Amino acid sequence: MALVDDNYQGLKDAKIMIVDDEPINIDVVQAFLEEEEYRNFVTVEDSTQAMRLLEETRPDLMLLDLIMPEVSGFDILAAVRAHPKFRHLPVIILTASTDAQNKLKALDFGATDFLAKPLDQSELGLRVRNTLAAKAYQDQLAYYDVLTKLPNRHLFLEDLSWSLKTAKRHEEQLALLSIEIDNFDNVNDTIGLNVGDEVLRIVTHRIQKVIRECDVLGRSTEYKGATTTLFHLDSSDFSLIIDRIHSVDHAAVVAKRILKTLKKPMRVAGTGIYVTASIGIASTPPECDEPSDLLRLATSARDYVKKLGGDSFQFSSNAINEMYKKRLKLETGLRKALEKEELILFYQPKVEIVTGIIKGVEALLRWQSDEGIVAPNDFIPLAEETGLIVPIGEWVLSEACRQLKEWHQSAGIPISMSINLSARQFSDANFLQTIKRVINNSCIEEHFLTLELTESMLLDDIDEKIKLMKTLRAMGLKLSIDDFGKGYSSLNYLRKLPLDELKIDRSFIMEMSNSSECRAIVSTIVFLARSLKLSTVAEGIEKKEELAFLRELGCGQYQGLLFSGPVTSNEITELVQNPNFMDTIAPVGAVLS
Ligand code: C2E
Ligand code: MG
Ligand code: MG
Repeated sequence: MALVDDNYQGLKDAKIMIVDDEPINIDVVQAFLEEEEYRNFVTVEDSTQAMRLLEETRPDLMLLDLIMPEVSGFDILAAVRAHPKFRHLPVIILTASTDAQNKLKALDFGATDFLAKPLDQSELGLRVRNTLAAKAYQDQLAYYDVLTKLPNRHLFLEDLSWSLKTAKRHEEQLALLSIEIDNFDNVNDTIGLNVGDEVLRIVTHRIQKVIRECDVLGRSTEYKGATTTLFHLDSSDFSLIIDRIHSVDHAAVVAKRILKTLKKPMRVAGTGIYVTASIGIASTPPECDEPSDLLRLATSARDYVKKLGGDSFQFSSNAINEMYKKRLKLETGLRKALEKEELILFYQPKVEIVTGIIKGVEALLRWQSDEGIVAPNDFIPLAEETGLIVPIGEWVLSEACRQLKEWHQSAGIPISMSINLSARQFSDANFLQTIKRVINNSCIEEHFLTLELTESMLLDDIDEKIKLMKTLRAMGLKLSIDDFGKGYSSLNYLRKLPLDELKIDRSFIMEMSNSSECRAIVSTIVFLARSLKLSTVAEGIEKKEELAFLRELGCGQYQGLLFSGPVTSNEITELVQNPNFMDTIAPVGAVLS
């Protein structure tokens, strides 16, 4: 990390490495420095690990004990000074030794300063502060651009190399955005260098604002954990490193926002100026893992955008560009699906095992797009990411309730309705209001409605979720955990949830015939549900033997192709009303008799 020293306060974020074989000494140094408000420490007791940790953590200052077993402070100091990257790292020697010989030797090896043990807190604080301030000044000169105050090409190359190594070690992905202002030479040539400088400052300011917004976005969405750093490489050439991205879409979101913010007119020295940019994006893995390769990929993608007229972005790899285009097409189509009335609900019967009677149905969403019917697993994740799931989910609720009312009123079929909820929908601040409104409008009785949640939806903000679940149940709605067993719920946590039903995940049912473990899991879930006074539904029953096993266990209901897959609302009416039709699906009866 390079330090920028506006005042001494800015130094408190400095990373300080303490190398000492005595843990008590490390504790004392750290405690003293913490009192001086330093907060970023790397501590090393095993001196053989010092160089490895130095490369991994890149501290701003090393506090080094001299006398240590195996690898001494002298050895480490010599290695630091011989290291091309850490040659100039400030190293303060901590030594009890009053031996002038040792001090001379350490100075000869390149020690920056000394501190005598036992340490004096004030002296330690002052020496650390002064050493860091000197480093900050050098960093400012060496690593920062005077015009934009951004880290420069030198630091960019170091950081990129470090980020790549870290990403590889933790099997994470990083993205590099190469950004160039389109036709910037024209601005300089026609309006003057001063105006050009001001434009670069405004560009910097706007990109940094986008980064801050995206980092905030990152905290609340699927882009969790990504961190972004902007560099000014040269004239109109900027670079962004995004560490720990979960998908390249995140880089596309950042690029889009940068293009949008840059396009807004700027007023510089009385002149209205419009700028656009070309952005190339490269990411790892799998494209490459050498800094120079990644930079080359990003800049060539950027140059390609420039050739096409600028004001756009491209990924460096064809595969990613294709994937992104496909996704964009899906997203555009999905945005219109609601207004074009392309969404439709299918219904899968939920059958009582003992009687073979259809007790309810589960609403399962389909999208009839121009390209054919799209299954929910192929578009719901995208709807989640884009937030479209909220209006789509509301449509599902209204349509399912409308259909339920029709069955109850016109057809006299008193079945219940299960509706799948998505994580984003369930966390949406307006969810409760929406569901109340839908129930009011459709005039259905609440106890006919079951909401299906999944274990993963309940991981964050569990207390808030439990509160919401209690409110929903108090209204008369039923709550079910879908795909139960697939997530990570602990039994204690299950006890706390206000629930009515567990749906046993299909993967266990599928494996039952050849896995005694799966049979044991299914038995345990049914037993557990019974002890917690919850009803059980088995998903995905395809074989008579599976149904027989579940009946033996006392499982309440099942769904599956053995009885019926998802069908249209008319087919459900027919299935329930037409006894002959029921006879043709006799496998249930056959097992029961
Ligand atoms: P799910 O809620 O666990 O639904 C069960 C899935 O298993 C359905 O797939 C159903 O068609 C399929 N299935 C049922 N019986 C069998 C069987 O015997 N064999 C096999 N192989 N499959 C069976 P579908 O309709 O493709 O839905 C997949 C998932 O999409 C659902 O899983 C649910 O999580 C989600 N989903 C569906 N509709 C909605 C919706 O309206 N909103 C939300 N948020 N998610 C939905
Ligand atoms: Mg479901
Ligand atoms: Mg399920």
